Amino acid sequence: MSFKCTCSCERYGEVLKTLPQHEVDEIIEEDGQVDMYCDYCGTHYVYDAVDIAAIRKGGADGESNDIIY
Ligand SMILES: [Zn+2]
Repeated sequence: MSFKCTCSCERYGEVLKTLPQHEVDEIIEEDGQVDMYCDYCGTHYVYDAVDIAAIRKGGADGESNDIIY
C-alpha cells in the first residue's frame, strides 16, 4: 500500500472531544470503552474511562498514560 494514513490516537482523542459527553458516557457504561475506527487505514483506537478523563482534562501529560509511543 502506498497510501499512508495520518491518523493517530491523539487525533481521534480530538474527535472524541467533539462528541456529546453523555453519549460517550453511555458507551463507557455499556462497553467499558469507546472504540474509534479509522475508515482509511482500518486502525482501531480504544479509549477507556481513564483515557477519556485525560482527554477532557486537556490531553495526556504522560503521568498516568500507559500508551507507549
Ligand atoms: Zn487511519
